[in-house]
Amino acid sequence: MNKLQVTNIHKSFHDHDVLKGVSFSADKGEVLALMGSSGSGKSTLLRCINLLTVPDDGSIQIDEQKILFNAAERSTLSNSQIARLRKKIGMVFQQFNLWAHMTVLENLIEAPIHVLKQNKQQTIEQAKILLQKVGLSDKLNKYPVQLSGGQQQRAAIARALMMKPEIMLFDEPTSALDPEMVGEVLSVMQQLATEGMTMIISTHELGFARRVANRCIFLNEGMIIEQGATQDMFANPQTARFRKFLEAMQH
Ligand code: ADP
Ligand code: MG
Repeated sequence: MNKLQVTNIHKSFHDHDVLKGVSFSADKGEVLALMGSSGSGKSTLLRCINLLTVPDDGSIQIDEQKILFNAAERSTLSNSQIARLRKKIGMVFQQFNLWAHMTVLENLIEAPIHVLKQNKQQTIEQAKILLQKVGLSDKLNKYPVQLSGGQQQRAAIARALMMKPEIMLFDEPTSALDPEMVGEVLSVMQQLATEGMTMIISTHELGFARRVANRCIFLNEGMIIEQGATQDMFANPQTARFRKFLEAMQH
């Protein structure tokens, strides 16, 4: 069975149809690159998957938990259903989103202690292991403002991993970084992929997508117009739109 099955997702804001029936699936351990020009709906789609935005229609299934979003079902969507789905999904945003008034360590332990009710000492140990993994062992008592963008983003990834997600969503995780910091964040993500994390990454880093993603999705005006194995998609784009996108990105 697929780890994640997204079926016929629709989302409008006022009368602007942003997602017009998006369907795809991901197996456990797959890395999907989500591509598309600005405004194509990438962020909205990722936000729908972890229910930061509630879709207007369609369904999302993770393992055996399926949530339907048609009007009748949506009104009965319970907080516990939402919480159960969200708990399986970690999300990393373009703008890091660390809490400015907390140290790196406090950022990491906050949700596990207060949401998952974990033991504090064990949670601190878990945080130290993850900070070591992302190369921030020496920054645990620093505040976000004392870190570079790349360090903040690595801390944000570690914070998401503290919740032991089964799927990680990344929304243009390197777009806000100075070029010299992109590599350190991508290498943490590459490591996660190697360890078998199921990941969906919206990105303009095509070199990274080619290297790390086994499948790609190309979103155009709220619809997936191409998807497939990474090598095939890059070698043999099927639509003029995707071909133009690749050309624009590579120059
Ligand atoms: P991408 O991430 O691919 O750049 P987005 O998902 O951010 O695209 O946006 C797709 C479209 O949806 C844009 O036209 C954007 O203005 C619109 N949109 C996104 N979120 C909202 C919102 N909360 N309210 C109104 N319009 C929105
Ligand atoms: Mg976006």
